[in-house]
Amino acid sequence: MTSKLSRRSVLRGRLSRTDPERLRPPGAQDDFSRLCTGCGDCARACPEGIVIRHSSGEPVLDFTKGACTFCNACAEACETGALIPAPASDWPWRAVITDSCLSLNGIACRACEDACDARAIRFRLMTAGRAAPVLDADQCTGCGECAFTCPAGAVSFEARTPATEEIA
Ligand code: SF4
Ligand code: SF4
Ligand code: SF4
Repeated sequence: MTSKLSRRSVLRGRLSRTDPERLRPPGAQDDFSRLCTGCGDCARACPEGIVIRHSSGEPVLDFTKGACTFCNACAEACETGALIPAPASDWPWRAVITDSCLSLNGIACRACEDACDARAIRFRLMTAGRAAPVLDADQCTGCGECAFTCPAGAVSFEARTPATEEIA
């Protein structure tokens, strides 16, 4: 497999999975760090099993374990107000496909396109048997199904709103 990982894409992938400032469960409030006691009620409540405990003690989503259905079970289980049930449209994260994508590197793959119920991913043919995934951020719900499905770990996430810190 040809690897064309850039420093930027490596940073994106690492940060989106490990930084507790990112990918908090849906409904996280602005003062989440103050309100969250790290009790784990949200993680236990998530039917998809995607809420994990970060080393900081805070809950974060792990899209390597599954996708979010925006069911709000995590927020409903939160007794401190750190999470409050919210519509899926409030979720600021959108998928970003990085340079480690197999298709971009000439290896046939359309797993993310097949997995995306929102039909947010299309492919643009390139030379040498490659095809570039093109992601429509207006269609993307940030559910994470593509990240869960991607065999190369090539899907990262970026926040749409300026209220959330941008990825370097
Ligand atoms: S909204 Fe539902 S699926 Fe998503 S993290 Fe919370 S409990 Fe899990
Ligand atoms: S599933 Fe991953 S490797 Fe496959 S085309 Fe989509 S981003 Fe690329
Ligand atoms: S995050 Fe969900 S909606 Fe967005 S591209 Fe991936 S599968 Fe589609």
